[in-house]
Amino acid sequence: METVLLADMNSFFASVEQADQPELLGKPVIVCGDPAKRHGITLAASREAKKYGIKTAMPCWEALSLCPEAIVVRPRMARYVETSLVIVEIAKEFSPLVEPFSIDELFIDTQGTEKLFGSSVDVASLFRKTVYERIGVPCSVGIAPNKLLAKICCDVEAKKSLSGISKWSYEDIPVKLWPRPVKDLFGVGKRMEKNFKNMGITTIGTLAQYPVPILKKKFGILGEVYHLSANGIDNSQVTPHSHDDVKGIGHSITLPRDYYRWEEIQVVLREITEEVCCRARRKGKIGKTISLYVRGIDLISSVQRSKLLASYSNLSTDICPLVEWLFQQHWGSQPVRAITISLSNLMDDEALQLEVFADRVAERSLAYTIDNIRYRYGKTAIFKASSLSEGGVYHERSTLIGGHKA
Ligand SMILES: [Mg+2]
Repeated sequence: METVLLADMNSFFASVEQADQPELLGKPVIVCGDPAKRHGITLAASREAKKYGIKTAMPCWEALSLCPEAIVVRPRMARYVETSLVIVEIAKEFSPLVEPFSIDELFIDTQGTEKLFGSSVDVASLFRKTVYERIGVPCSVGIAPNKLLAKICCDVEAKKSLSGISKWSYEDIPVKLWPRPVKDLFGVGKRMEKNFKNMGITTIGTLAQYPVPILKKKFGILGEVYHLSANGIDNSQVTPHSHDDVKGIGHSITLPRDYYRWEEIQVVLREITEEVCCRARRKGKIGKTISLYVRGIDLISSVQRSKLLASYSNLSTDICPLVEWLFQQHWGSQPVRAITISLSNLMDDEALQLEVFADRVAERSLAYTIDNIRYRYGKTAIFKASSLSEGGVYHERSTLIGGHKA
C-alpha cells in the first residue's frame, strides 16, 4: 500500500522570507549566504527567481547576472529551524509516524489513519493546505509504498506537477523509475554516477538488472543497496526521532559535505561526544549506555548501535574510545553524512560521585572547570586542538546553525 509520504517544502528559505515579508510575494527573491563563509552562494531561490534559471548553490553574482532585479535576502537560519519544527508539529496532527529528514523535508506514514483522514492522497492534500494556511509555505508531496520511492517520486514528479502531489506504486517502477538516469536514484552522487557510467550503467533500469555479485565486488555492501534501490526496494520504516528523549542526552549533526576519511570522521566523533558529555555534566548526569547513529548519503545505509560502558561516566576520555570502536565495527568505508551520539541509562552524578570518581577526582574536576570557562566565555574559549583540523566543525557549530548565521 502506498502509505508513505515525503513532503518537501518548495524553495523553503525563500518561501519563509516571502511569508514573513509580504512585499516580497510574487518577486524574484534569492537567499544568499555570508560571502565570506560560503562564497556568496544561493541557498534558496523563490519560484519567481527560478524562472530566470537561478538554481540553489549557484554563486550569488551569477544569479544576479541572470536576474539583476532579484531581491537578495540574508539567511535567517534560526527562523527556518523554528518554521521547520512547526511543520513537523503539523504533520503529527495527521499521524504519529513522522520522521524529519532535513530542514525542509519529512516523511509521514499514514498507515492506520484512513478512518480519520481518508486515503494517503487525502492526507497529502490536507497537509499541504494546512501548512500553506498556517505558515504560508507551499510544498510538494511524493506518495509511495516506501521511503525511497516516495523521495524519488517527489523529486522527479510531484515537484514538477501542478497539483504538487504524485503517487507511485510498485507497478510504476518499470515505467516511471527505470527509464530515468541513474543520478536520479537517491544516494547516487556525481562520483557514483561516473563509476556507473564506466560500467555502462546510465539508467536506473540497467542498474536494476546488473549482476549483483559484480556490484558487490565493486562497491561492497553499497553494491547490494544500489541493487535494491534501483528495484524500488526499501524496508526502512518511518521512524519518529526522539531528540527530546528525557532518558538520554544526545547530540547530532548533519555534516556540511560527505566525509570519507577516518581522520576527519574521528575528529567529528570526538567533538560530538564532548558535546554530549558536556551537556550531561551540566545536568549533573552520568550514563551507562552510549549509542551511535550514522547515516550515509542514501536513505538505506544507516546504522544504530549501542554499547554499555564499563562504569557510569560523563567524561569523553571514557566514552570516546567506545564511540570510535562502535563506528569502526559497524560502519564500513562508505561516506558519512550525519552522526548522532547519545548517552542514556542515566543517573545523578552526585549520587555515585564518590564511588565512581574516587580515583579520578582530578580528571572530573578538570572537565567541570572547562565547562565553566566555556559557559562564561563562550564555547571557543577552550577547545581541543583537533577541532582546528580540516574535519572539525566545532567552531562552525558554536556560532552557526546549519552552517549559516543564526
Ligand atoms: Mg525543498
